[in-house]
Amino acid sequence: MPPKAPKQNWTLPDHNSKKSHKVAYINARIIDPESGFDKKGALLTEGEKIADFGPALFKNGVPKGIEVVDCEGHVLCPGLVDIQVHFREPGQEHKETINTGSKSAAAGGITMVVCQPNTKPVLDNVPIVEFIKNRARETSYVNIRAYGAISKDMKGETITEMGLMRESGVVVGFTDDGLPVMNSLLMRRALEFSKMLDVPIAQHAEDLNLSNKGCINEGKISTKLGVPGIPNASEAVCVDRDIHLVALTGGVYHLLHASTHEAVESIRRAKKMGLNVTAEAAPHHFTLTDEAVLDYKTFAKMNPPLRAEKDRLAIIEGLKDGTIDAIATDHAPHDQESKRVPLTSAAFGIVGVETMLPLSLALYQNKTLSLRDVLGKMTWRAADIIREKRGRIKKGAIADLTLIDLGMEWVVENDKLSSKSKNSPFDGRKVKGRAIRTIVSGQTVYTLG
Ligand SMILES: [Zn+2]
Repeated sequence: MPPKAPKQNWTLPDHNSKKSHKVAYINARIIDPESGFDKKGALLTEGEKIADFGPALFKNGVPKGIEVVDCEGHVLCPGLVDIQVHFREPGQEHKETINTGSKSAAAGGITMVVCQPNTKPVLDNVPIVEFIKNRARETSYVNIRAYGAISKDMKGETITEMGLMRESGVVVGFTDDGLPVMNSLLMRRALEFSKMLDVPIAQHAEDLNLSNKGCINEGKISTKLGVPGIPNASEAVCVDRDIHLVALTGGVYHLLHASTHEAVESIRRAKKMGLNVTAEAAPHHFTLTDEAVLDYKTFAKMNPPLRAEKDRLAIIEGLKDGTIDAIATDHAPHDQESKRVPLTSAAFGIVGVETMLPLSLALYQNKTLSLRDVLGKMTWRAADIIREKRGRIKKGAIADLTLIDLGMEWVVENDKLSSKSKNSPFDGRKVKGRAIRTIVSGQTVYTLG
């Protein structure tokens, strides 16, 4: 008999919970990646905030009346922040909803996500921002933020009312993700606004004419399979144009899901020039190459596509030297009808929120990055990009926390993912490290075991 899978439990946060409720997390290895704090000790939450933490706290026991959680020596770190997910609500609730997507995120140790605006209708005006806010409050396990669209209906023509969307809350930046902003003048205007609003313009960097309906990376594998490819240049020319526009405007630019060595090099150069530029990479881009398409077919089809080994290594180098600030999943759920079709007609995207943590921890396990650096890219560095004061363990900070069992070995099984969609190329993969408790604003929303 194989060992029984540990039980998963979810609880929606109670928005009317007592502000005075105290919880003591004892026997924890507390890691705050920003400050480098890494010590055995305890942490106390009071209501939604971190009241105290440290090696000396509760040395003489926990006073009566305080709830106790024994962390059994596991890592207690700031809740993970995933700055790129597609939760499909409104419009494609058969693929995912804010409820199911956030449930999946909580199981991955994530406490805050940024939803992309390519919903139906597009998140391009204040009433839809209000809709997202209400759905989040009623149905989400984790903190929901969103990017507003840059252009109305993501048509790449008319700029949206960015200031109003930003003011109404939840919106932490702007993007037309799913699509690039191809129009350079529109991009210039968006960057000008970003400077005034101090929020990022997040680009899905792609020249659609160059991509020319390609479906996977242009290279040996696309030739072998006889399918149209997307060249590296498609991403590279867009990033390079954008950097010229950032230099022109002084705007705030964020590169979504960097996939090519050329893009990493361009961002590195832009940072050296002192431009206000950040970048993220997705776990699949530093874990797999386009060879995976041979095994996983449409489940390895995403945009930007899996690239060559040279690109994968460049992404890792970018993570190491800080060119790439953050890790984000680009969680893109699709139903069977969208994926059980030929490679050329299948939808782009894979689910990712439940596998981000172990796939990223592999960089620590193989000694590429320190534990502090890996966790940093999924916490405070990600939070900084979207101007949120999260991802840190500090007295008085919101108590978004994740408890991680670094040694837990498990196998990714698509059937068992809690996302509504099951499209992951990591099905059957052995991984190590898992979130065993996820805490949002001082309340446990997820436990394992
Ligand atoms: Zn994208």
